[in-house]
Amino acid sequence: MKHTQSKLIRTQIPRTAEGEHASPMYLTSSFCFDNAEDMRAAFADETDVNIYSRFSNPNVQEFIDRLCILENAEAGFATATGMSAVFGSFMALLKKGDHLLSCESVFGSTHTVVSKYLPKYGIDFSYISANATAAQWEAAITPQTKMIYIETPTNPGLEVIDIAMVSAIAKKHNIILNVDNCFATPIGQTPIDLGADIVIHSATKWIDGQGRVLGGAIVGRKNLIHEIYLFCRATGPSLSPFNAWVLSKSLETLEVRMERHSSNALFVAEKLEGHSKINFVKYPFLTSHPHYSIAKKQMKNGGGILCFEIKGGIEAGRKFLNNIKMLSLTANLGDTRSIASHPASTTHAKLSPAERAAVSISDGLIRISVGLEHKEDIVADILQALEA
Ligand SMILES: *Cc1c(COP(=O)(O)O)cnc(C)c1O
Repeated sequence: MKHTQSKLIRTQIPRTAEGEHASPMYLTSSFCFDNAEDMRAAFADETDVNIYSRFSNPNVQEFIDRLCILENAEAGFATATGMSAVFGSFMALLKKGDHLLSCESVFGSTHTVVSKYLPKYGIDFSYISANATAAQWEAAITPQTKMIYIETPTNPGLEVIDIAMVSAIAKKHNIILNVDNCFATPIGQTPIDLGADIVIHSATKWIDGQGRVLGGAIVGRKNLIHEIYLFCRATGPSLSPFNAWVLSKSLETLEVRMERHSSNALFVAEKLEGHSKINFVKYPFLTSHPHYSIAKKQMKNGGGILCFEIKGGIEAGRKFLNNIKMLSLTANLGDTRSIASHPASTTHAKLSPAERAAVSISDGLIRISVGLEHKEDIVADILQALEA
């Protein structure tokens, strides 16, 4: 098989004597041994068999193998949530005295981990703007910098960071580059091909794509993933086999889903641009996006998220949500159902206006996760809510 999509579809748990076509579910907490010697060898890491589902499980392994195919990664570990992937990658690879250099716009809970919890363990951090030049990135590195962490496109501001540019700097200084690829998905971009060492996912979003289960993953260089595996196997943020079964099945349709999500999103973005009640529309593949050329260089499509700034600030944002009829008002993103959210009054309400401005979240910013309903119905609902 020559193509990634075929390899992904045809990678599955070996068929059992029952001859099942879909992979069976291994809802078991542990695995049996024939004798004491086999059990001893397994615990001594002399064999590569399943012992206990906190360490490994066939459904979880199938999900990881498939994600590694999509991301061009050597190895991976799946976690219960995206946040346990983020936290596990930090805790396994950083130690007291190390410095983490992170892009300034990161997912809300990631910001809490970086700025509140890492310092508690003696791990220092600094933030850098998504607009930083190569020289500014270089200048932000200290002798203690052990890891660079970026999210691109960022949530919810949709800033795009040049992965190849940052990875060249990371390589020069022998620093691990860790990329949260949740928004683009491996269908939109493959950071490892651009020089990233590890890639993080919240599988809860586009990978599930249907708003059912939580999950996460870390894939990348074998030696780094081994450290992460040892940390996670001991501390226990393992993915449930049931969730892994759901997520693995979802990966089979990720490509076709993302193609439609992004063509719908581009259609909605183009229809909204220039509307009299909107200051600007931001979508990576709109030519007006400030990082359009970087997006075009590293992304195959613009993804399923767009945002726009409604005129009239917080009040106008709230009114817009109240007038929405079809789109869901919910905290998730990356679903078949389109979702509208207003970060300034919800997810980012705890930040000061200055902190929000630094991460491109203005009071009137609306984020739309574009679903798989007909694109004209999505636009029509947004337009009627703007005009109401
Ligand atoms: C949702 C999200 C996470 C966290 O994932 P959970 O599965 O909710 O723990 C991390 N990064 C980004 C960019 C996200 O959108």
